[in-house]
Amino acid sequence: MKIRAALLEEFGQPMAIRELDLAPPNAGEVLVRIHACGVCHTDLYTWSGVDPSGYAPTVLGHEGAGVVEEVGEGVTSLRPGDHVITLFSPECGECDHCASGKTNICTAIRAQQGSGYLPDGTARLSLDGEPVRHFMGTSTFAEYTVMPEIALAKVNPEAPFDKICTLACGATTGLAAAIHKAAVEPGSTVAVFGCGLVGLGAVAGSQIAGAERIFAVDMSEERLAIARRYGATDCFTGGEEAVARIMELTGGNGVDYSFEATGNVKVMRQAVEVARIGWGLCTVLGVAGKGETLDIVPRLLITGRRVQGGSFGGAKGRTHVPQFVDMYMAGKLDLDGFVSHHLSLEEVMKGFELMEAQDGIRSVITF
Ligand SMILES: [Zn+2]
Ligand SMILES: [Zn+2]
Repeated sequence: MKIRAALLEEFGQPMAIRELDLAPPNAGEVLVRIHACGVCHTDLYTWSGVDPSGYAPTVLGHEGAGVVEEVGEGVTSLRPGDHVITLFSPECGECDHCASGKTNICTAIRAQQGSGYLPDGTARLSLDGEPVRHFMGTSTFAEYTVMPEIALAKVNPEAPFDKICTLACGATTGLAAAIHKAAVEPGSTVAVFGCGLVGLGAVAGSQIAGAERIFAVDMSEERLAIARRYGATDCFTGGEEAVARIMELTGGNGVDYSFEATGNVKVMRQAVEVARIGWGLCTVLGVAGKGETLDIVPRLLITGRRVQGGSFGGAKGRTHVPQFVDMYMAGKLDLDGFVSHHLSLEEVMKGFELMEAQDGIRSVITF
């Protein structure tokens, strides 16, 4: 079939909307009509050419929500008409990692996905007969995409696509980190560094988990105001003195749980330093630049602080994402405040500009 998609042909150059060919789903695959898609930093990072593992031509986009149009042979968990969220992090339920119950990093299709292909090693996308690679196994800056069944989360069909698409990446990363990966306990103290979508998700998740005091640190007053709306009790501008300030406000102890969502290794170090002696747990969520390292004074670890990271916040996509959608529909989770701009597919480059200008939280393309 012919579809319209934003095609990345040359890194750093504006993406044009082109007509591409999309082959029907093979065995284990599903054709999805995309209704909404968020514009994320990972798309911008790959578009810029800085990502050493990037490739072109490709169709970017990984925060999609849409409707199943057609299923390939052997697909049993989805059928036409189902509403789905796209997952760059699949959940097969059967590989060694999934079976362990210890991690959300499913290895079933990892190698092929990383090189831009569907699990059988080929692409469904093409232009004038030449294959166009898939991005993050999703390629959702497009009217339609073909994805593996194990990389689609079936969700409540009543939920609005333009809000729940934020759960395909950023919002779930923060929410799951707080609720599942760190498992914030009621009555605890929390510090969140960085109040973009991931950090706000961590603030919201901590509040849902019953945290008593939530410190939010960011460089933008506007974002701090939004963090307050999501449950942050103490908000202040980031900088050298952030650690001392949090220590002072916690009686010199530090917090039970800290989260880092900036990708800046100096901020990661601060997040480790504010974790309290004895049991403080720091969860690193930001993606640092290539070759950068995190400096930690070993004494901090010996005296009981712990450091962990979590891709997608440790969320198991097919299990946890539908639960977050249900929480949103039940009024227990607010996703509306995460969406700051609505764009058309033709305006995808504007989504990158807004991100670079740090304007708003999330731009969402609707089809
Ligand atoms: Zn993302
Ligand atoms: Zn798996």
